[in-house]
Amino acid sequence: MRTILIVGAGQSGLQLALGLQSQGYEVTLMSNRTADEIRSGRVMSTQCMFHTALQHERDLQVNFWESQAPKIKGLGVSVAGPAPEDDPGGARPRVIDWVGQLDGHAQSVDQRIKMAGWMETFAQRGGRVVIHGAAVSDLDYFSRAYDLVLVSAGKGELVSMFGRDASRSPYSEPQRALAVAYVHGLGVRPEHPDYDAVRCNLVPGVGELFVMPTLTLSGRADILFWEGIPGGPLDAFKGVKDPSEHLALTLDLMKRFTPWEYERATKAELTDANGTLSGRYAPTVRNPVGRLPGGGVVLGVADVVVANDPITGQGSNSASKCAASYLESIVAHGDGEFDETWMTATFERYWQTAQHVTKWTNAMLGAPPEHVLNLIGAAGALQPVADRFANGFNDPSDFENFFFEPEKAEAYLASLSG
Ligand SMILES: Cc1cc2nc3c(=O)[nH]c(=O)nc-3n(C[C@H](O)[C@H](O)[C@H](O)COP(=O)(O)OP(=O)(O)OC[C@H]3O[C@@H](n4cnc5c(N)ncnc54)[C@H](O)[C@@H]3O)c2cc1C
Repeated sequence: MRTILIVGAGQSGLQLALGLQSQGYEVTLMSNRTADEIRSGRVMSTQCMFHTALQHERDLQVNFWESQAPKIKGLGVSVAGPAPEDDPGGARPRVIDWVGQLDGHAQSVDQRIKMAGWMETFAQRGGRVVIHGAAVSDLDYFSRAYDLVLVSAGKGELVSMFGRDASRSPYSEPQRALAVAYVHGLGVRPEHPDYDAVRCNLVPGVGELFVMPTLTLSGRADILFWEGIPGGPLDAFKGVKDPSEHLALTLDLMKRFTPWEYERATKAELTDANGTLSGRYAPTVRNPVGRLPGGGVVLGVADVVVANDPITGQGSNSASKCAASYLESIVAHGDGEFDETWMTATFERYWQTAQHVTKWTNAMLGAPPEHVLNLIGAAGALQPVADRFANGFNDPSDFENFFFEPEKAEAYLASLSG
């Protein structure tokens, strides 16, 4: 039986572990935290996942929380106008507002629930879980003991083994300061009280507020997620340790920059003392093969090799797609040696999907060019444009067809009005 070590129990590592286990591989999962520690720890993400990524979980029959998690049927965009001329700190008006319909619903299941639950399932099915924060020196030994070592340790220290691919990483610094709060008590968006949607609120030159429903430890909740341009007014969470202070700051910023979202948040309360998160990181693509001092090689998975900014909500989706792609590559390789050539080819196969996510996400971090502003504006009047935007979150390769180049954007809009 082929032996595989997976280091890191997040979306990609656990999905791969469960998938390989179901195919008869002897899998060891190494995690720096127990299931209980994950469950009782801090929130890690907003983890909104769209149809294709959710389908990979269904295919493995590990979509355990699907019936409990709110079904997200739409994805909306609102754009804030400039501050009033006589009051630069005053509340912004809303100048654009629309919602696109998703062909298949999206869902967010708090990773504390999902990762803890999946780890327990893996162990119940006979998988070996080792609780240990792996260091490079450990991997040196394990690369000789196992047929294949996969490093799915997210953005942790082990990424230092994988060199940055400068040709695929246009940014070397964080492009947004991130601040998340999980809340109960948020009112519905009055524009669509009968269904849930992810709401993307863009504040040009300042940042973005994402609001989305989730399933957390205490049931249904909503997430308020600020992405602030570094050095700007939303980059205000550094040093804020007290969760209540974090929520108060989140709401204050909403009152000023997205008053239409603040209106439904006046009764918001944190879901739990670990329901806030803040930080930042530089979006980075890395070389997929990590070389160890003793000559062994290991393959990086998901965020280890392609970490995009969460502005497009793609990291968990990509982790699911990466795990599904790697699973296929591993099974298709049969008894072949998992050498560097195979590792590189396995990553490049995944990159065929990931490259579209990276290109689109990096584009969204910059100031939008005029043709993109036109598209966002047009979506308010033309429902097919709004729907296409929304469904691009499921399949970002479609943005190649109408988003990046002005000629294609114009041709698309002309085809609709024609
Ligand atoms: C604020 C925020 C909001 C986000 N929102 C979304 C969203 O809405 N939609 C979306 O798709 N994505 C979102 N993402 C991204 C998404 O959460 C990640 O991209 C995704 O979880 C990556 O999965 P992964 O398996 O690569 O790593 P992770 O989920 O990070 O898992 C890595 C695991 O490895 C463990 N580990 C680390 N080092 C070691 C070690 N040395 N030894 C053993 N274990 C180790 C960690 O503790 C962790 O459990 C968001 C991210 C952030 C920060």
